[in-house]
Amino acid sequence: MRIRLALLFIALVPAAIAAQTTPAAVRIRAARVIDGTGKVLSNATVVVSGSKITAVESGNSGAVTYDLGRLTVLPGLIDVHAHLGWHFGPDGRYANRPGTPAEEILYSAENAYVTLMAGFTTIQSPGQANDVELRAAIARGIFPGPRVLTSIRVLNENSGTPDEIRDKVRQLKKDGADVVKIFASASIRDGGKQTMTDAQLNAACGEAKAQGLRTMVHAHSPESIRASVNAGCDQIEHGVFADPPTLKLMADRGVYFDPNVGVVLQNYLRNKDRYLNIGNYTEEGFAFMEKGVKLNEAMIRNAVATPNLKLVLGTDAVAGAHGHNADEIVARVRQGGQKPMDAIVSATSMSAKSLRLEKTIGTLAAGYDADLVAVDGDPLTDITAVTRVVFVMKGGTVYKATYQTARGAPAVP
Ligand SMILES: [Zn+2]
Repeated sequence: MRIRLALLFIALVPAAIAAQTTPAAVRIRAARVIDGTGKVLSNATVVVSGSKITAVESGNSGAVTYDLGRLTVLPGLIDVHAHLGWHFGPDGRYANRPGTPAEEILYSAENAYVTLMAGFTTIQSPGQANDVELRAAIARGIFPGPRVLTSIRVLNENSGTPDEIRDKVRQLKKDGADVVKIFASASIRDGGKQTMTDAQLNAACGEAKAQGLRTMVHAHSPESIRASVNAGCDQIEHGVFADPPTLKLMADRGVYFDPNVGVVLQNYLRNKDRYLNIGNYTEEGFAFMEKGVKLNEAMIRNAVATPNLKLVLGTDAVAGAHGHNADEIVARVRQGGQKPMDAIVSATSMSAKSLRLEKTIGTLAAGYDADLVAVDGDPLTDITAVTRVVFVMKGGTVYKATYQTARGAPAVP
């Protein structure tokens, strides 16, 4: 008897240790799994252990933790350009002057939360100093929000001599910036003409490269885009006036292009009464933005038709737009004529690559972070499904599960 008990004890010990060190696998099955690189699996199961994906299996085998039925699973979506700090104030109008630090960070936190609930598990925020604290808070794993990458500050034509600009880039590196945000052109209201000199751009993008920092450049006019590409900058934002030769130049030089055609201007127009007569949000400004929507429609068609152009997904989301980020994916398909699968790849693995995170996020495969979402419908036949996010997992933690189970009961994680 004693011998048997001892054997039993010995047999149980390794299992107990294993249970402590290896978390139980979580199995998520759905009618469709789109992996982020262009592949789709039917009746597939994503297996998650702790914060990582350990396998993506075809077929209906094995027990299931989350049976997502007819839903479609995608990698967590990525927005490479969203301003989490922009918000409406207590009076419902755009707050262009900062409130107290506590108010500002709480508005940012709200925006982070609604962005995560919309299926975006990673965002890049240009030019908001308190992103540093927000990034750290979300990374601690208690407050729900997307993974945040930040430029902290911005560089523009007033940032000084080339030497002063290099100093500023080095300081950004010391302060923990993930990316350098650069304004190379004016707004579309002024024709988007180049504002920084070639020497300033060379200093900004050259020093960033030396420091191992990525660069994203606000540039509208063809000549400001050309100057940025020639300065070795990594990514161009907006590009309302980008013509086919400029688009081809970006493609030839392997520069990422982040057009923002489906969210930002539409949001301004929808919320006109909340912005009007604050700063430069004049009637004239709104007339320019209405024209901008049309210019974008032509530009995005040309961009999608440009071979090898590395299109990433960014919204330029401002106050009123947070949580509507997926409208950009819909616009890619409806306005730009992009194939739904290509638009999804753009918002997942391609955007991950632009952030140099292609080995950890943006793809559903063994070894990747368990960032995944489920949408109601098949986005390959109806792209608006990406706006109906009913399940969100980030780093192996479920933050949203509002789908109904096969029996009609609400899902409870
Ligand atoms: Zn922006």
